[in-house]
Amino acid sequence: MKDLTIGIDIGGTNTKFGIVDRDGNVLHQASISTVGHEEFKSYFDSLSKAIREAMNNLKGEYKMYGIGVGAANGNYYKGTIERATNLPWKGVIPLADMFKEEFDIPSIVTNDANAAAVGELVYGSAKGMKDFIVVTLGTGLGSGFVCNGQLLNGKHGIAGELGHTSVNPAGRFCNCGKRGCLETYVSATGIKRTVYKLLADHLEPSELRGISFDNLNTKMITECAIRGDIVALAAFEYTGRILGMKLAETVVHTDPEAIFLFGGLSLAGDLIFKPTIRHMEANLMPLFRGKVKVLPSALQNQAAPILGASSLVWNYLDNAPMKEIMA
Ligand SMILES: [Zn+2]
Repeated sequence: MKDLTIGIDIGGTNTKFGIVDRDGNVLHQASISTVGHEEFKSYFDSLSKAIREAMNNLKGEYKMYGIGVGAANGNYYKGTIERATNLPWKGVIPLADMFKEEFDIPSIVTNDANAAAVGELVYGSAKGMKDFIVVTLGTGLGSGFVCNGQLLNGKHGIAGELGHTSVNPAGRFCNCGKRGCLETYVSATGIKRTVYKLLADHLEPSELRGISFDNLNTKMITECAIRGDIVALAAFEYTGRILGMKLAETVVHTDPEAIFLFGGLSLAGDLIFKPTIRHMEANLMPLFRGKVKVLPSALQNQAAPILGASSLVWNYLDNAPMKEIMA
């Protein structure tokens, strides 16, 4: 008898889901389009149908323990998705209740960065750690904090939104309505904005000149930096400096053993890790110097968001009181 969970990652374009065992093996994965459904109900029905098909195709006996969902603005306490700017549905969506009704198993919802943090704890390099932070560097910047072995949710389920802490009050405009948020500098979009700024400031030739903002991506900037492109290298140095300085401030709050970088920008390896670590160490309160590791996530693959979401269920079952599970 296999013990299984379902992990669902709701992204702005696609929703990926997978059936995952205790050890983090993804037995089946598939995706449906997030967009193109006028009503949330029609999206939910398509997703549920795809999940049922996947379950019907499973071989052997199994027990399905629950559904974990990672989504922007996912609220752990309420099991809802609330006013997510990058998803097509407005208002508050009672996702956990809908899944519970449809599949009659527990359903845990949280934001994608928190799911990544729990994934690192359950399946990744944070196994056995009690205090660590995961920073996801995607289109935006997300973060999940684990303190004393528990995911930090806060009063409203939105604790640890590092991406919207300020690095410059008069800085770049952010989607959240503020200015100078960390994610406007440190994210796939942030480094593109930096490249454009540097192209304007520098006169040196660069392969990145002439590429439109929409066509530019992290992979291109990384490849140019590897070839020695001055603007691309300066963009990584600038990004790493801002991230490193922010991390130096952040560790003061929770005294983590490690900070894991996850997602697109972190795949640039030394290009981003070296300046980040250098600037973090240079700005750390002396008591912390040399003590906080900055590491790549162990879940750097296509299935990572699914693993993160599915791990929510194991983490919940391992920590929740029995009466809550039976409810
Ligand atoms: Zn912001």
